[in-house]
Amino acid sequence: MTRIEEEFCRRTPRSAERARAAEAVMPGGDTRAAAHHTPYPLTLEHGQGPFVWDVDGHRYIDLIGNYTSLVHGHAYPPIVEVLRATSARGTAWAARCDAQIELAALLVERVASVDKIRFTNSGTEAAMLAMHIARVATGRRKILMARYGYHGSQEDTELGLVGQEGPNTYLAEFGNAEAFERALAEHGSEIACVLLEPVMGSAGIVAAPPGFLAAVCAAARREGALFILDEVICFRLAVGGAQERYGVTPDLTLFGKIIGGGLPVGAVGGREDLLAMTDPAKGMMFVSGTFNGNPLTTAAGVVSVRELTAARIAAMEDRATALRVGLEQAAAAVGMPFSVNQAGSLLNLFFTATCPPATIVRTDYERMRRFHLAAMNHGLFFAPRGLIAMSTVMTDAVIDEVLVRAQAAFADVAAEPE
Ligand code: PMP
Repeated sequence: MTRIEEEFCRRTPRSAERARAAEAVMPGGDTRAAAHHTPYPLTLEHGQGPFVWDVDGHRYIDLIGNYTSLVHGHAYPPIVEVLRATSARGTAWAARCDAQIELAALLVERVASVDKIRFTNSGTEAAMLAMHIARVATGRRKILMARYGYHGSQEDTELGLVGQEGPNTYLAEFGNAEAFERALAEHGSEIACVLLEPVMGSAGIVAAPPGFLAAVCAAARREGALFILDEVICFRLAVGGAQERYGVTPDLTLFGKIIGGGLPVGAVGGREDLLAMTDPAKGMMFVSGTFNGNPLTTAAGVVSVRELTAARIAAMEDRATALRVGLEQAAAAVGMPFSVNQAGSLLNLFFTATCPPATIVRTDYERMRRFHLAAMNHGLFFAPRGLIAMSTVMTDAVIDEVLVRAQAAFADVAAEPE
């Protein structure tokens, strides 16, 4: 064990105890691969604003906000209030609720390519539904996605995350429009849809280069395939989503995370004629879900989306830039190779001199692992892979505190033998 790891274990005996109890009843003691890490993940006890507390009583600045979904931080008072009022009147029923219409209307109003919306309970389900729509619409079976893209935990895209093609899945390199055009020219007659993240999330916050999304979109249309944009993470990048920021008009869009205000959520939005296939009265698909568009999720989602204004999006981006620059300076001060990808309020850290291309295969794995544990030892909480997301409740003072704590974490990593 490294000194950093020893310190982590010394500080968190109650989390260690919870890890043992969890291992007895869940494989690997966990239920969520992305948040898992060695020696064991923390057990958290509560969150407030930009902070979380673990079961050993330590406070952490939360720089990940449940993987970007808590855009207004934890227990945001207007969301707590709407959840309290809503839950007192019942949590779900087998009929519409007003908040569902309101959230759908808000998304239709904000996102230019979205005529109609269909709710699901996760981003994974949204991806499954969009692929299903594409298959019914085109009569084709296969999908084309970016190597190392992530569209939830489901069979047809899961292999793509680790860089392998599957029976229903073709891959091409993110950012390389010709590679997508080639794949479409070669297999176009089999491809129902092209599925892309405008900014690769799991692969390290890699933004689409200029012209890439529009070129792939045009190639997909030429071959009669749908162009689907996964905005589960990126919707936070502009009032009209990443598609507004990067200037592309998809046929279908996947939503998740922030549109549920912290509760489980997903949605597919897009062209009238495509969404019409899910119309229960006239459509050809049977699309249901006990908790689709439920009162709690949609009420919280309305507050979350409505309060994400252009001014707040810009303020989060400025703070993300300040944090990136401060972290780069802190790494330089200890002479450590370090780089950061940034897209708006999203960052991904790398312990290499320059950011790698979109990939989940890291050459800096051990250093990243040590820095992640060291950062927790100094009261910072973020994704093990180095993903960081700003929230609207992070102030300049919070960013200053993050930098002081990060400096201590860099010093600990620099002090460890290789
Ligand atoms: N697409 C992207 C781009 C994501 O980042 C995620 C989740 N991190 C998903 C889809 C899946 O969403 P969920 O975890 O809600 O199923």
